[in-house]
Amino acid sequence: MSSAVVNNRSGAYLGSMRPEELLTPTPAGLCCPPGSFHVDPVRPVARALITHAHSDHARPGHGAVLATAETLDLMRLRYGDNFAVSVQPIRYGEPVRLDRVTVSLHPAGHVLGSAQILIEANGLRVVASGDYKDVADPTCRPFEPVRCDVFITEATFGLPVFRHGDPRAEIEKLLRSVGLFPERAHMIGAYSLGKAQRVVALLRAAGYDWPIYLHGAVEAITRYYANHVDLGELRLARDADRSNLAGAIVICPPAALNDRWSRRFPDPVTAFASGWMRIRARARQRGIALPLVISDHSDWDGLTAAITATGASEIWVTHGAEEALVYWCRTRGLAARPLHMIGYGDEDPESEGIESHAP
Ligand SMILES: [Zn+2]
Ligand SMILES: [Zn+2]
Repeated sequence: MSSAVVNNRSGAYLGSMRPEELLTPTPAGLCCPPGSFHVDPVRPVARALITHAHSDHARPGHGAVLATAETLDLMRLRYGDNFAVSVQPIRYGEPVRLDRVTVSLHPAGHVLGSAQILIEANGLRVVASGDYKDVADPTCRPFEPVRCDVFITEATFGLPVFRHGDPRAEIEKLLRSVGLFPERAHMIGAYSLGKAQRVVALLRAAGYDWPIYLHGAVEAITRYYANHVDLGELRLARDADRSNLAGAIVICPPAALNDRWSRRFPDPVTAFASGWMRIRARARQRGIALPLVISDHSDWDGLTAAITATGASEIWVTHGAEEALVYWCRTRGLAARPLHMIGYGDEDPESEGIESHAP
C-alpha cells in the first residue's frame, strides 16, 4: 500500500496527469477517460466499476460491470441474470489493468462486498470510496484506508452533530425492551441490503439465539448473507402464526412498519435502525417507539478520520452534507471541493433523509 510521494503541498503533481484527467464528474457519474470506464454510473455506460450493490450506486443496464464477486451476486439477486452484458469479479487488492490505468478494490466496510476503487496512472493515485464506515461490522470486511493523492468521500452524515456511538449499546437497548415486553412483537425497520443483516448479526453477537423473523422483502438478501456470516435460525414472518410472534423480533423494510402488514403482529413495538435516529424529531415523525442509532455510513468523526488516514492532499466530496466537510478540509490545509453529483442518495436507503440536510 506504500506509495512514493507523488505530490507536494502546493498541489503540483509530478508526472503529467492532473487528477481531473484521471477522473472527471459527468452527468453519467465519475468518468475515467484514460481507463474507459465510469464509477457507479447513474446512466447506462459501456464499462462500469461498481463500489457496492445499493441501488443508487449499482444500476442495471451497463455493458461490462467490474466489481467484487459479492457485489455482482447481490446485483444479480436484485436485477436478475441479465443486469449487464458481461461481468468481471475482482478480488480485494488485485490490480487490474484497464487501458492506460491500473485499478484495484479495497474494503469499504459499508455492506457485504463494498469496495473503494483505487485508480493509478503515472504515479497519481485517486480513491473513489463509494460509501464507507470505519467501525466493526460482523457482516463485511473492515474499512482499509488507502494512501492516495486525491480521496473522494461521501458525506451522508457530514455534520458534527452526527456521532453514531456504539451499535452494541443500541442492541442492548432493544434486548432490554424485548425482556420488558415479552408479550409484544418487536418490529425492526432496517434497510434490506446491509442493515437488516447487520442487525441480525449484532443480535447474535449479543447472545440472542431465538429464531429471528424476516419480512419477505429482506429474505433473499439475508439468505445470501447467511452464506458469509452465521445469522442463526431465520424464519419467514408470513409462515408464523400469531402466537409464535409474541415476544419475537421481526426484521422488515422501514416502509412496512406503517403499512397493513404490521397489523398482524401482537401489539408491536416499532424500532428503526438508522443513523438518522440520532435526530429524535425524525423518530417521532415516523412514530418510532424505539430509535436505534445504527448506521452503515461513517459519522462525522469517521469521515474526518478516514480523510486524515489516506494522507490525501486533495478531497472531493460527493452526496450528503458536502459543504461542512469541504470547510473542515480547508481549515486543515487540504484542497477540497464538492462534486455536486446528481443521482446518489435518492435510492441509497440510508440517505433518504438527505433532502432535509441539503443546503
Ligand atoms: Zn450505500
Ligand atoms: Zn451512497
